[in-house]
Amino acid sequence: MNCEILAVGTELLLGNTVNTNASNLSLLLAELGVNVFWHTVVGDNPGRLAEAVSIAKGRADLIITTGGLGPTYDDLTKNVLADALGKTLVYHPEEDESIRRWFEKSGRQYTENNRQQAYLPEGCVVFHNDWGTAPGCAFEADGVRVIMLPGPPNECLPMFRHRAAPYLRSLSDETLVSRQIRVFGMGESHVEALFREEMEHMQNPTLATYAKAVDVMLRVTAKAKTEAEAAAMCQPVVDRVVKALGDRVYGVDVENLESAALPLLRKTHRTFAAAESLTGGLIGARFTALPGASEVYRGGAVTYCDEVKAGMLGVPEDVLAENGAVSEPVAAAMAQGVRIAAGADIGLSATGLAGPDGDGVNPVGTVFVGLAAEDGVWVRHLTLGPGRGRNRIRELSASHAFDMLRRYLSGLPVV
Ligand code: AMP
Ligand code: MG
Repeated sequence: MNCEILAVGTELLLGNTVNTNASNLSLLLAELGVNVFWHTVVGDNPGRLAEAVSIAKGRADLIITTGGLGPTYDDLTKNVLADALGKTLVYHPEEDESIRRWFEKSGRQYTENNRQQAYLPEGCVVFHNDWGTAPGCAFEADGVRVIMLPGPPNECLPMFRHRAAPYLRSLSDETLVSRQIRVFGMGESHVEALFREEMEHMQNPTLATYAKAVDVMLRVTAKAKTEAEAAAMCQPVVDRVVKALGDRVYGVDVENLESAALPLLRKTHRTFAAAESLTGGLIGARFTALPGASEVYRGGAVTYCDEVKAGMLGVPEDVLAENGAVSEPVAAAMAQGVRIAAGADIGLSATGLAGPDGDGVNPVGTVFVGLAAEDGVWVRHLTLGPGRGRNRIRELSASHAFDMLRRYLSGLPVV
């Protein structure tokens, strides 16, 4: 099924609102195996919207609209679509009633223009909106299938997940299963080069690579009559990829490096703490975003200047003076210092230059990431380069800390 997403709203064209619905719907449609071939944006203008619909129905099997289902004069998606596809709009009293109740519950006044939200194309499947007022719907006409969803993302996305996705699944007697293999420490082009030939020839399952913010993901997707069958088709490919990439794979179906480290800490009954300079608390922030972090994360120290590194972590002043704060011995001393100060099994540390200014000695992007435990201290020396920019250098430094942590806990070489 080839799909066009048609986002309606003048605010999208003016740049006031980013078309996040298109990107999020695309991600969700990919999970269903629907090919999204076009993203179109059109303002609240009946003529241009009709033109966009006529182009879309000439090339797509499925048109998904977002926006323009509300009660105001500029909400004309339904009218234009119904017109273009030869449908009349029919009044749904039960939807009107539920819109009235929505207003009652939120203590607001129901105005008569809200009634227009209860008109839907004849013969459609109604998508009741539990997250707002405007119902959505699905219908077929002229050989094209149309799904209409409201514009506000907090309505559009649950409406897709809970209404449109089950509807789309019911049209097909096949199920899609995807597995995600997460890789850290290799670029996307390198990963892709390893599997390109194989990827090109695969049809079911398929294998694709995606570069995420700080790592690479490979997605294996299979289609079959049942979920179990599709999952069984994915497994040999997952096994092959994991074997080929070895310990650079930090997890399958995990969200990020910190989520891979958390169960390892639990399993080995270990706690950690972090001493952060250039990351300024990112390691702690990323880890504490995970439910259950309190079981294994003792705390951390943001130690930005030399005096605080010395005072709070006990980094010897002569080590700081001799090597500078951005150095291997300081990263090692920070990791050991925080481990002791926090009473943790493992201490992590990060010190480096996020830029844009250097320190006159090390180039921007020079980072030392440390890990201290009862059986040793390890420091990774990174040269991330200035081109990545401050934020990415800081994110990558935190990711390396988690990578070292998960490697240590898995018994792999740490650096
Ligand atoms: P509407 O359903 O057209 O009344 O849209 C209501 C609000 O939803 C707009 O004011 C936007 O803030 C938001 N919105 C509409 N379309 C989109 C979209 N494609 N992506 C993100 N937000 C949107
Ligand atoms: Mg609008």
